[in-house]
Amino acid sequence: MNHLLVLGGGTAGTMVVNRLRPLLPRDEWSITVVDPRGEHHYQPGYLFIPFDGYEPDDVVKPTEHFIPEGVELLTSPVDKVVPESNEVHLGDGKVLTYDQLVIATGTTPRPDQTEGMDGSEWGKSVFTFYTLDGAIALRDKLRTWEGGRLVVHITEMPIKCPVAPLEFTFLADSFFKERGMRDRVEITYVTPLDGAFTKPIASKHLGGMLEERKIELETDFYIERVDNEQKAVVSFDEREVPFDILVTIPLNMGADFVAKSGIGDELNYVRVDQGTFLSTKFDNIFAIGDASDIPASKAGSVAHFAVDVFAENFLHHIRGEEMPMRFDGHANCFIESGGGKGLLIDFNYDTEPLPGKYPLPAVGPFSLLEETEMNHFGKLMFKWIYWNALLPGRDLPLPALMSMAGKEEVGK
Ligand SMILES: Cc1cc2nc3c(=O)[nH]c(=O)nc-3n(C[C@H](O)[C@H](O)[C@H](O)COP(=O)(O)OP(=O)(O)OC[C@H]3O[C@@H](n4cnc5c(N)ncnc54)[C@H](O)[C@@H]3O)c2cc1C
Repeated sequence: MNHLLVLGGGTAGTMVVNRLRPLLPRDEWSITVVDPRGEHHYQPGYLFIPFDGYEPDDVVKPTEHFIPEGVELLTSPVDKVVPESNEVHLGDGKVLTYDQLVIATGTTPRPDQTEGMDGSEWGKSVFTFYTLDGAIALRDKLRTWEGGRLVVHITEMPIKCPVAPLEFTFLADSFFKERGMRDRVEITYVTPLDGAFTKPIASKHLGGMLEERKIELETDFYIERVDNEQKAVVSFDEREVPFDILVTIPLNMGADFVAKSGIGDELNYVRVDQGTFLSTKFDNIFAIGDASDIPASKAGSVAHFAVDVFAENFLHHIRGEEMPMRFDGHANCFIESGGGKGLLIDFNYDTEPLPGKYPLPAVGPFSLLEETEMNHFGKLMFKWIYWNALLPGRDLPLPALMSMAGKEEVGK
């Protein structure tokens, strides 16, 4: 009997077992998933909680609902992988062995990594919406806030869903307008990037949207510390941005056991080949989703496209054959822009987000890099698709690799 062990039962790990269970004969392969949480979180939904758009119940379901029959679920944290002996040590002392290992333990916000971030103001005037508890605390604060300086801040890239802080900012602008208090709120967007986003065309477009909404943009800001007494973020080049509410995206890091196991980079992301997700050191270890060091966006959409490529390749790999497919970094993200509208971006390792239509050329129904109501509905529809089609591993009519069909090549 061969054993496939999957660490992490979040977006990527759940899709992996749902795709592979029907493809791997049960008398040849057993499958185990390890995840201590017991709850599956729809993280894109955290964005709407601070504005009372979603309730916590909308974004949490029991993990076991999504683990198929024929897959064992263990609820203990992983403490260490010992690749030399194909072993995984769990926090409860149990030792598991594997023939093939998939690491899908994601990435976690770590406010403890920046001086003063989780200090005396944490939960009072310093918040993050990157966790469920953080999103709820921020909602409670915003319900009675009477205005002042709101600072939205990114500590360092990469972060999961790199557009989420921009979406939060656009939704905040819209929320304060609807409440008739926008003139009492000064919004500043503070980023370590040199513009609003990572890719030049989208960055220009999104930067223009901040300007239209009278949102200040503070770029190239590398935070040194949060000053809890002065209520300011302070950069290494000694700039200070004061706040009444700070909404920060803390440093994102992979799981600590990755460092302990000697298979990660300085942020605990597993080093893998960017086309196949196979570890650069071990021939029977893969990392999928946010846990890997591939230079794609850390996003559920990327995990979904990556699992399509991985599942196909894995069947060849276990037969000792070359893997036929290579992942291209395909990502697509809806960007809420407030007022019932949104944008969509679709890109990969080599092609930055371009204007056009998606998924059908000329028809859409979604528009790339353009604010439309349809894109907003797409974002809202996504929650249903996530729970009912994506996680259970059903085929969606979206190709894993990016297509240029429907895209307008800017400047040509
Ligand atoms: C606010 C916000 C908005 C977002 N919006 C979008 C969006 O609009 N579109 C989009 O595509 N993506 C979005 N994302 C990103 C998306 O949620 C993640 O990229 C996706 O969930 C990654 O899947 P994953 O399986 O790699 O990690 P996760 O889904 O985070 O799963 C990791 C799992 O590993 C488990 N784990 C961690 N450590 C251990 C350990 N030591 N042992 C065992 N198990 C462990 C965790 O309990 C968790 O269940 C958003 C994220 C946030 C935070």
